[in-house]
Amino acid sequence: MNTIKLFFATRNGHKRQEVQDILGDQFKVVGPEDLGFTDDVEETGQTLEENAVLKAMAYAHLGIPVLADDSGLEIEALNGAPGVYSARFAGEGAGSAENMQKVLSLMKGKTNRAAQFKTVLAYFDGTQVHTFKGTVSGFLLEQARGTGGFGYDPLFVEEGEVRTFAELTAEEKNSRSHRMRALEAWLGFLLG
Ligand code: IMP
Repeated sequence: MNTIKLFFATRNGHKRQEVQDILGDQFKVVGPEDLGFTDDVEETGQTLEENAVLKAMAYAHLGIPVLADDSGLEIEALNGAPGVYSARFAGEGAGSAENMQKVLSLMKGKTNRAAQFKTVLAYFDGTQVHTFKGTVSGFLLEQARGTGGFGYDPLFVEEGEVRTFAELTAEEKNSRSHRMRALEAWLGFLLG
């Protein structure tokens, strides 16, 4: 079986591992560090789509196809926050525990706990950039549960589930996540 090398423009190891697991052995996912890049691309966009495109186009000069992901958690009762600011909701350099703590305190006493995870993938094919979206709807718990996944996974329960994303196995999360849905749309585009 021929392995297809895919340049995935993220330094987030969790995302990269999920993409590798979702795509399987037919792809070998490589990241910026593998090509000698150690700087982060500045996420100056106002939307997930803008940031995904920024990340992909930051490497367009390499002349190879580039896939990039921008993702976030959108909470209905917070008018879509943290959204594009998910990674730095509790401030620049904040970790997942602090970001979740901020969400929990803003959500204290709120009965509408609906939320969705969203991924936008930007694919630069060497000539043009294309975007693909994936969403998963659910609700937020009042306290974190589980140790799997990353980011806001311990707070998020998909509609129809009782376990948080952090309580699912990696295979379970990857079979239904926002990232998987966006990758599915991208694969559909590639396969025509
Ligand atoms: P960015 O896409 O690198 O800007 O970061 C997105 C942020 O959203 C991450 O740092 C996480 O906090 C959150 N996030 C993205 N995808 C997921 C996921 O699959 N589970 C939980 N949190 C996520």
